[in-house]
Amino acid sequence: MSDSLTRRQFIASAGCAGCALAWSGAMALPGYAAATEERLPLTKELSTQEALHYEKIEDLKVVCKLCPKECQVADAERGYCGVRENQKGTYRTLVYGRPCTLHIDPIEKKPLFHYRPGTAAFSIATAGCNMECSFCQNWDISQFRPEQIQMFDLPPARTAQLAADTKSPTIAYTYSEPVIFYEYMLDTAQAARKLGVGSVMISNGYIQEKPLRQLLKHLTGVKIDFKAFTETFYKDSCKGELQPVLRALEVIREENVWLEIVVLIIPTLNDSDPENQAMAKWIREHLGPDVPVHLTRFSPNYKLKNIPATPVKTLERLTKIMRGEGLHYVYIGNVPGHPAENTLCHHCGELVIRRLGFRSTLEGLENGCCAKCKTPIPGVWEDPLKA
Ligand code: SF4
Repeated sequence: MSDSLTRRQFIASAGCAGCALAWSGAMALPGYAAATEERLPLTKELSTQEALHYEKIEDLKVVCKLCPKECQVADAERGYCGVRENQKGTYRTLVYGRPCTLHIDPIEKKPLFHYRPGTAAFSIATAGCNMECSFCQNWDISQFRPEQIQMFDLPPARTAQLAADTKSPTIAYTYSEPVIFYEYMLDTAQAARKLGVGSVMISNGYIQEKPLRQLLKHLTGVKIDFKAFTETFYKDSCKGELQPVLRALEVIREENVWLEIVVLIIPTLNDSDPENQAMAKWIREHLGPDVPVHLTRFSPNYKLKNIPATPVKTLERLTKIMRGEGLHYVYIGNVPGHPAENTLCHHCGELVIRRLGFRSTLEGLENGCCAKCKTPIPGVWEDPLKA
């Protein structure tokens, strides 16, 4: 097996938004092609880039101010996420320019339904996470340290250029938890913007307000995994906290960056009617009725293999409850072909976007409005960097 993938090979295989194109440490990588081609090398070297958002305290210790965990880290130790290390009193990110996974996905897979439907998202991730969800779908990268999996050497400018060369209008920071590769995401988003490429963060929203506001200036969209509406669930199932996520959601709204929410509905853990009704009420009151909410189907995974898949009836019942609370766009996810994948105009009920899995057809959308009643449909329908 080769230790690199040629840039030409990647670009050549990245023809369409729906392509299941992927590189990751878990996959066999194609061999070298022509010796003159630029290569995307694997590396075993961790980054030494200094981290942002930390404070130095006594005895060469530091306090990380990136996420609400506020890890206090002694010299030669790492924070909880495993990708930030104190090296003699200087805090460093070990994954700057070190993605472990590169894919080109349909933007619908994130899922983002009101953000440039039918386009490609150049998707990247590094190792690490600041939570540990017992149902994680990407535990094989999120729960590992960078040196335990393969890494590419791909600095921000090259990452952005690769997205542009593959004609991806958007980079998605996704799969694991982009908050923990914050500096890489921030610099890549800025480099991408100069090339006319947008940036969306697919995140758990577990981040402090100051770094979040700094980052949002460079993002064109955000999707937050809203795990549940109880502190108990966040503590027991995710090793996180609810309150900071609620604040992050408000901040994203305040900064006027396009936002969608996903709730993975897990039988017996977060599928009660009162909890989801309360969540919908909070969303409407704090974020407004137009934020799309995706209720997605759980399937047994990672440490939650003993719980069965979510019955579709549960998703349908909760969708009805959330719509009844006044949310305009509530979708059912991970149930391909379900009618609740489609977008209907919230004013007249006409079909606006038809979906099947990750494919979208704009049947009734004209200039961002319902073709029938002309009501504006909230979303990012045109290139946000040209607006
Ligand atoms: S980003 Fe990592 S090191 Fe920093 S506080 Fe969060 S878990 Fe700790």
